[in-house]
Amino acid sequence: MGSRKTYKQKRNFEVTSEPRPSGYSHDGEPIFVIQKHNARNLHFDFRLEINGVLKSWAVPKGPSTDPSEKRLAMPTEDHPMEYADFEGVIPEGQYGAGTVMVWDKGTFENLKSKDGKNVSLEQFYKDGKIEIFLKGKKIHGGYALIKMKNRKGWLLIKMDDEHADARRNPTSTENRSVKTGRTLSEIQTEHQND
Ligand code: MN
Repeated sequence: MGSRKTYKQKRNFEVTSEPRPSGYSHDGEPIFVIQKHNARNLHFDFRLEINGVLKSWAVPKGPSTDPSEKRLAMPTEDHPMEYADFEGVIPEGQYGAGTVMVWDKGTFENLKSKDGKNVSLEQFYKDGKIEIFLKGKKIHGGYALIKMKNRKGWLLIKMDDEHADARRNPTSTENRSVKTGRTLSEIQTEHQND
């Protein structure tokens, strides 16, 4: 965080098993992914497909299902689409060294329009106000991502809809990968020699 370097500039693909950008694209609704990342600090990386890349935020506490909880989301570098399936171990000495899990993944819809007109999600991103409906396995329903005024950080907030649930606490109770069913420590053990 805080660096203006790009995804490629930050990584040595001879050393890390993270994907090289290959121009991957797909049909259908845009995707989102939430990766649990046990780096220097345990955090969640929230990524949204906007205009062919994964716009990314590091969310220390991860998403809440409680509309009264505002979760800090710090913007990080754009990630290539391929990253949505990355699960494994980033080696010591590499940027983001630690274990990565695909904690949740799915598609999403843009909920916002402007003066009744369709406006691109990229424009809402630039304006710092995003409202989306997430269709994941763990995280479902409307979420707002709002950039704080005169600050670098954003806030990730559950919208008050029928999917809101103040009693659920999925970031602490749901510990397994939606891709492989593994815990962070199982991923670490199985990938430490990648
Ligand atoms: Mn991270």
